[in-house]
Amino acid sequence: MQKRLLIVSNRLPISIEKNNEGYSFRQSSGGLVSAVGAYLKGHGRAVFSEKVWAGVPDCDEDIWSLASLNHGGTDYNFLPIFPSTSDYENYYNGFSNSVLWPLFHYFPSLADYRPDFFEAYKRVNEQFAEKLSQVIHEDDTVWIHDYHLMLLPGLLRKKNPGITIAFFLHIPFPSAELFRVIPRGWQRELLEGVLGADLIGFHTAEYVSHFLKSLELSIGLEQENDYITYQHREIKADAFPVSIDFSVFDNAHRLEKVSLARDRYLAIKGDKKMIFSVDRLDYTKGIFNRLRAFEHFLTTNPSYIGKIVFIMVVVPSRHSIFQYSERKKRIDEFIGRLNSTMGTISWQPVIYQYDHLSFEDLLGLYTACDVALVTPLRDGMNLVAKEFVASRNDNMGVLILSEMAGAAFELTESLLINPNDVLEMAETISVALEMDPLEQGRRLSVMRERISRYDVNAWALDFFTQLHRVKERQKKLD
Ligand code: UDP
Repeated sequence: MQKRLLIVSNRLPISIEKNNEGYSFRQSSGGLVSAVGAYLKGHGRAVFSEKVWAGVPDCDEDIWSLASLNHGGTDYNFLPIFPSTSDYENYYNGFSNSVLWPLFHYFPSLADYRPDFFEAYKRVNEQFAEKLSQVIHEDDTVWIHDYHLMLLPGLLRKKNPGITIAFFLHIPFPSAELFRVIPRGWQRELLEGVLGADLIGFHTAEYVSHFLKSLELSIGLEQENDYITYQHREIKADAFPVSIDFSVFDNAHRLEKVSLARDRYLAIKGDKKMIFSVDRLDYTKGIFNRLRAFEHFLTTNPSYIGKIVFIMVVVPSRHSIFQYSERKKRIDEFIGRLNSTMGTISWQPVIYQYDHLSFEDLLGLYTACDVALVTPLRDGMNLVAKEFVASRNDNMGVLILSEMAGAAFELTESLLINPNDVLEMAETISVALEMDPLEQGRRLSVMRERISRYDVNAWALDFFTQLHRVKERQKKLD
């Protein structure tokens, strides 16, 4: 058994909800929470003697103290951090989600390089460093997650030179040409911040090479023999494609609640074909193009009119940012128009839900549909694609996947599409619906085998093994 693990992410992995008895906790949505949470419940449980998750709760300090009296179910403690409302706004909606998020997902025109955003980003990262430094021990492992906290490894390193720090980026790292678009001083601070870590993880080898190129172009630092030497410390940057807890999805059909949910969706499906998609509301997810492709499919394949249904679930996200609320309006209008022009009293082409799904409903839909449509314009990984494949232990169903998702590097037996090509997507829907069941099974079994071998536990084990190696190597060189 090792020592203590401090996990650090922007948000704590829970949402606080008011109910009749007071407040209760619910696990929040998103790839990061799903992956790290699965590891902590699985192998991670035995590896570290104590786990603490640090981040910003989704409530103020007063409610937190009431709610934390009756929380249960998690086997880790929380270290809440409370930035001021205005700092959090400019750090989160501002620098994180109006500069880094659009730029790193190849939407440079949506980035807004406001100096006050960067100042708040720095202050909140410093506040994290301050709070963590109050509790850190020399032999702790600190695992920092994602683009909100790129300065934190460097800030923590300054305060605690000997500790073990790992950083994992859950979104793409863009090509160096795009990274250079950021004001020069900020580029340097961001890269030097990340270099405070001993190990820097990305989803794909492509993102690693982009990062290395940016180090070279922005701060003149080159990798030698697989290591980056920075301030007399050897640091490793490597690819660790994040994954899922395969067994949970593989076994889900045995759960009564999942089977009931599946039956409910099969009843809606009847003798029709069913397409399913689920994503957070985000302009990177390609939701609008997907709808256009479905409309084009119906127009060019009239034999499917009345014989297919597209269940589209959109999970609310970042609604206070204009680009998000505006897109929601466009999606609502598109679906309204499509359903009213092509639908009839007895048939709606799109069944649309703008809300979270329970685990049972998500699995019910993964296992009831004929085709899963995962078509982001850009996505660091995309766990939904992996979860769909893992849940199909009946070896039936077809995954249509965007080649712009990190998952496309592993799920090469899916039907890969370019999410900007509406015509190709529409044709691919038709190919998927006509695919021979044996062919569906062949493709799924290869992908299932691959995900089961490199599941979330293998991912984390791989990551921590590398981290250990880096630390051993640093000790030898000291
Ligand atoms: N998910 C969820 N609740 C929902 C819908 C989805 O928790 O109502 C989960 C889903 O199972 C997946 C994650 O959210 O694990 C989405 O991860 P992904 O990598 O696909 O996208 P992200 O939201 O991180 O961009």
